[in-house]
Amino acid sequence: MAESILYKRKLEGKVAIVTGGASGIGEATAYLFAKHGARMVVIADIQEELGQQVAKSIGLNYSTFVRCDVANEKQVEAMVELTVKKYGQLDIMFSNAGITGSLEQTVLDLDLLALDHLFKINVRGMAACVKHSARAMVERGVRGTIVCTASVAGSKGATQKTDYYMSKHAVLGLVRSASRQLGKYGIRVNCVSPSGVATALACSLLGMDAEQAEKAFEPHASLKGIALKVGHVADVVLFLASDDSGFVNGHDLAVDGGWLD
Ligand code: NAD
Repeated sequence: MAESILYKRKLEGKVAIVTGGASGIGEATAYLFAKHGARMVVIADIQEELGQQVAKSIGLNYSTFVRCDVANEKQVEAMVELTVKKYGQLDIMFSNAGITGSLEQTVLDLDLLALDHLFKINVRGMAACVKHSARAMVERGVRGTIVCTASVAGSKGATQKTDYYMSKHAVLGLVRSASRQLGKYGIRVNCVSPSGVATALACSLLGMDAEQAEKAFEPHASLKGIALKVGHVADVVLFLASDDSGFVNGHDLAVDGGWLD
C-alpha cells in the first residue's frame, strides 16, 4: 500500500503556537506539528538564537519565531494577536514554557522570592497563554485545542522542589477550570504530564548529562528497558491537539512509564 495512504497528517492547515519551542519538549513538538501538516507553527520563547534556528530548520514557510516572555501578559497578548493577524486564526496553543526551582528546597527553607519568580512563568505565564489563546479562538468561533505542559509533579508531593511541585499542581487547576469554561465554545483544554525527560531543564537541574539523567530517572518507572524521550511527549501532545482526541477534555495525560502508579 502506498505510504501516502498509511500516513495521515493530523494537523493539516492548522495554525499553532508552541511556547518554550526553542528547546526540549517544545522543540520536538514544533517539528511534529509541522510534520503533520500545520500551516504555521509559531515558536514563542525567550531564547532568540535557538528559537530562530528551530524555525529555520522546520522551514520558514511553515514556522516562525516570536520573542515572547510568557511571564509578561502584554507580550503574550501581542504574540497571539500577531499570530492571528498574520496567519488568519489560531487553532492550537501548546503552552509549555517552564522553568524549575532549586533541587534541594524544602518548605522549611522556601525562598518566597524564588517562588514568585517561578510562579510568574510556570503559573501566571501558563494562565496568560490559555487566556489569550482562548480569547482569540472564541472571538473567531474557532473550535481550537489548548494543551498545557504539567508534570507528574502536579499529582504528588515531593521531598524537595516545593515551589515547582506547587506550580505544576496549579497547572492542573487551570486546565480543569478552563476546560469546563471553554467547552461550550467547542474548545478543548488538556494537559500532558511527563515524568523525568533529559532536556536542558532536567540536565541543568540535576547537574548531569542526558545519559546520566536518564539513568537517574530509570528507577521511578515501572516500565523498563526504555527511557522517556521528548518525542514520546510530543506524540501525546499531538494526540491531545488533534481530532484523534476529539472528545477528550479537562484530562491530564501522564507520559511516565507508570511513575505515578
Ligand atoms: P527546556 O529547558 O528544554 O525547554 C523549556 C523552554 O522554555 C526553553 O526553550 C526556555 O527558553 C523556555 N522558557 C523558559 N522561560 C520562558 C519564558 N519566561 N517565556 C518563554 N519561554 C520560556 O525544558 P523542557 O523539559 O522541555 O520543559 C518544557 C516543559 O516541560 C516545562 O513546563 C517543564 O516544567 C515541563 N516538564 C519537564 C520535565 C522534564 O523532566 N524535563 C518533566 C515534566 C514536565
